[in-house]
Amino acid sequence: MVLEGLGRALHGAIQKLARAPHLDEQVVKELVRDLQRALLQADVNVQLVLDLSRRLEERLRKEAPPPGMSRREHAVKLVYEELSGLLGKPSSFELKRGGPTVVLMVGLQGSGKTTSVAKLAYHFRKRGYRVGVVCADTFRAGAYEQLLQLARKAGVEFWGDPQGRDPVELARRGVEELRGRCDLILVDSAGRHKEERGLMEEMKRMAEEIRPDEVMLVVDGTLGQQAREQAEAFRRATPVGSILVTKLDGTAKGGGALSAVASTGAPIKFIGTGEHLEDLEPFSPPRFMARLLGMGDLETFLRKVEESLGKKGEEAAREALKGKLTLRTVYEQLEAISRMGPLRKVASLLPGLGVTLSEEQMRVGEEKLKRFKVIMQSMTPEELDNPEILNASRIRRIARGSGTSEAEVRELLKQYELMKRMLTALGKGRMVRTGPLAKLVKELEKGR
Ligand code: GDP
Ligand code: MG
Repeated sequence: MVLEGLGRALHGAIQKLARAPHLDEQVVKELVRDLQRALLQADVNVQLVLDLSRRLEERLRKEAPPPGMSRREHAVKLVYEELSGLLGKPSSFELKRGGPTVVLMVGLQGSGKTTSVAKLAYHFRKRGYRVGVVCADTFRAGAYEQLLQLARKAGVEFWGDPQGRDPVELARRGVEELRGRCDLILVDSAGRHKEERGLMEEMKRMAEEIRPDEVMLVVDGTLGQQAREQAEAFRRATPVGSILVTKLDGTAKGGGALSAVASTGAPIKFIGTGEHLEDLEPFSPPRFMARLLGMGDLETFLRKVEESLGKKGEEAAREALKGKLTLRTVYEQLEAISRMGPLRKVASLLPGLGVTLSEEQMRVGEEKLKRFKVIMQSMTPEELDNPEILNASRIRRIARGSGTSEAEVRELLKQYELMKRMLTALGKGRMVRTGPLAKLVKELEKGR
């Protein structure tokens, strides 16, 4: 995994925080110290580290957890937010409709441009786009051959002219040639320069000629915090720029490179994580950080919950909070959970909840959810909306109808009562999105 050392150190700091009996001054101090040490070791700039520490301490002091969230959970959330902030704001790479998206790739010699052009081409071809690459490198011997081979491997169109002398002219001709046949055209430029100034000049000349939709700077991640100068010069030179950081595999300075680039405000859109075509990832700061921290993917999780619950689910959840939880709501929540995938996966996506279920508990939990659904399918709409009317004879009927036992029907009702009491106790203002779901998972943990 990329940035493994940093990940382990940060994870350790958060674990300590999560395990501390009280969130007192001492714990906060130690947390900040641990974070500082981890970040500095990853070559993150000292000033960035100090800024982060100050902001985090202030937020820990001032911000109160929202109702229903413990102080500890809240602290973990703040740490996570600040750390992903260090990597910049989320951004995305999107292809234009109707006409090719032209991307000019620039970067110093050896930064990994040509390799990244091929990786990007492969990435988008796999997603069904028609991709073409243009060789505009007249400088490096073998540049033509290198890109040609990589394009073949990636299964994308290639344009180049080994006789060509002027890179700007080559870029223009290549884009012209591929325009009608491609959704995405990537131009690999020469990057013969050893320093930023020459590079920026070459880039400007090229950009004026081919008018790309985006200029992407390829930065060598092994530079650590020194990557800042390139990113800064680049950001000043072009407002439509984005960044691809390469070689994050096998460097202990990756955190330094990413944070240094992000601090210039230029968005990092992709990262290179190896020498092979498939070693490329779209970059999202929150997701990257969550994974680095081993927290499960917080953002993905929240979005999934939202998607699967939809508006109706949220309303139901709100009703439930007012104590109007019905079996219908429970049923809908169970449906939502099963749509999200196996319980094991759902639980692993729940960070900071202390949900650690064994394989066995998971299996039992999943089985139980299924049985509960079957039971509820045998209930009448009236029963689902007013579970109070479920008397002995109705329970008998439901058990028979669902092929389960009366004991199981009663167990479901007991769980329902528990959930209802818990939700009522939690009262208003509880974070609706994670509330009932989170509790349900916890309940399953206990109720086996
Ligand atoms: P260019 O001069 O900017 O076009 O750089 P190249 O694409 O030719 O790459 C220079 C070297 O860096 C090659 O040996 C690549 O295999 C290597 N390289 C590029 N990207 C990565 C990466 O993400 N990880 C690793 N480990 N090596 C990379
Ligand atoms: Mg090259």
